[in-house]
Amino acid sequence: MTVKKVLVVEDEPGIRDMLRLALETADFECLEAGDIADAYQQVIHNSPDIVLLDWMLPGGTGIELLRRLKKEEATQHVPVIMLTAKAHEDNVIQGLEVGADDYMTKPFAPKELIARMRALLRRAVQENVNDELRVGELVIELSSHRVLVNGKTLEMGPTEFKLLQFFMSNPDRAYSRAQLLDRIWGLNVYVEERTVDVHIRRLRKALQAGAPHYSDLIQTVRGVGYRFSDRGIALA
Ligand code: CA
Repeated sequence: MTVKKVLVVEDEPGIRDMLRLALETADFECLEAGDIADAYQQVIHNSPDIVLLDWMLPGGTGIELLRRLKKEEATQHVPVIMLTAKAHEDNVIQGLEVGADDYMTKPFAPKELIARMRALLRRAVQENVNDELRVGELVIELSSHRVLVNGKTLEMGPTEFKLLQFFMSNPDRAYSRAQLLDRIWGLNVYVEERTVDVHIRRLRKALQAGAPHYSDLIQTVRGVGYRFSDRGIALA
């Protein structure tokens, strides 16, 4: 197994030392940054496999860095776990909306953090093995986080991307809004079910912009929720 590099973005030396010890004991290589400018430079130059991101940092919050990382093509595939000081629900929801892959509330058990990191890294490896999901001329390139229709890149947010990836990996199955919240937004997060509808609408719009009929792939299942299927659809 190759050693995985983790970037710890945290301004409190005590927590940083605790994390370094736990991570090195678990055979991770540990990089450290105390503010978002330094953290951004390290992501670019040192290519960490995963980032642990504190919320409150000097010179800018973790959410600013997260937004930047998830926007830029070179960095948007790097998994990010947010570390929040308290169970600030708003922070957590905002972070997940912007594209954080998971979060932990301080104080947390390093063992649980490491288990979650390993789960995310396994997922990232699987994505690299099967780099592409395809239905008709709709293609998701997982390593570059790009969605294409007929070779044209579609613009969509990180949540829409996750939704589409989930649907394309699980076609012809109906999912309730609660199931989608669970799979896309994660457990233990309170998000209203209508949030799902908002993102479904955005996803359909993005697909529609790609080519006619592609938005029909996301089907409303009355009384249940949503399904992804290409049966009976004329994909151009
Ligand atoms: Ca802090």
